[in-house]
Amino acid sequence: MRYDQVTENVTFLRLNQGSNIVCIALDNELVFIDSGLNTIIARDFRREMEKKYERKTSMLILTHGHIDHFLGMSAFSDCRIIAAESGKPRFERFVNLEFTEEILDNMSRVFPSIKVAVATAKLSMPNLWIKERKTYGKNQELVFQIIGGHSSCSSTIYYAPDKILIVGDLIQADVYPYFGEPDTDMSKWIGALKEWEAEDFQFILPGHGGVLTKNYIPKVRIFFEKLIEELAKFKSEGVTEEDLVKMALLDEGYWSEDAVRKPAYNFSVLNLYRNL
Ligand SMILES: [Zn+2]
Repeated sequence: MRYDQVTENVTFLRLNQGSNIVCIALDNELVFIDSGLNTIIARDFRREMEKKYERKTSMLILTHGHIDHFLGMSAFSDCRIIAAESGKPRFERFVNLEFTEEILDNMSRVFPSIKVAVATAKLSMPNLWIKERKTYGKNQELVFQIIGGHSSCSSTIYYAPDKILIVGDLIQADVYPYFGEPDTDMSKWIGALKEWEAEDFQFILPGHGGVLTKNYIPKVRIFFEKLIEELAKFKSEGVTEEDLVKMALLDEGYWSEDAVRKPAYNFSVLNLYRNL
């Protein structure tokens, strides 16, 4: 299994299908952040980390309630599973969802490997809900903080000894970002990015894409600010939604040239446009 050894105690598994997974080795225990989409991959990564650090896993922390971040969660069914309380309805919806062929066909357009992942998945509700902020570890070195923005339950995990911030989908690196939820809050999101720019982080670990340093943060923030400004201009000019999705500016972002523009991106832009 190939992974990034970010620091001595922080390991990053970059995945293309579903979210990344992070392992943090505390003094006597391992903590995982997000499980990704696939239970088998999550299980194998956990086993490898337990062997490497000779420690048991105590917790799975979920950055938010999007299925690509937690469908593989049953690899941690014996652990405490932690998430933001505001995400409860979202988790409930997925846990109670019957994955019919039709639903899976639709989801495959966003997550091409979801059918394979669902075959071994077993969803359950997180068993520890956080309202705002919570610290873990002997020296309170791990900080769970609810931010909102991408979704109302979007949270960060900060590992103080190495100044590492794990951000879930508040930064989606090298891909067209998704920001189309009913509870997406762009001003909150941009506000958080601005605050992080002033912090002294050594590494930023995103939900999608590779290990980042803090100079990536303004790229995302400036993209969103520029997009909102342009959309407001188009709205005042009465540009129709059909014409809007053809605009060249929508392809000018911080991602790499080979990034694929999925319908979820158009959906996000239109959602933002309607709400301006
Ligand atoms: Zn998400």
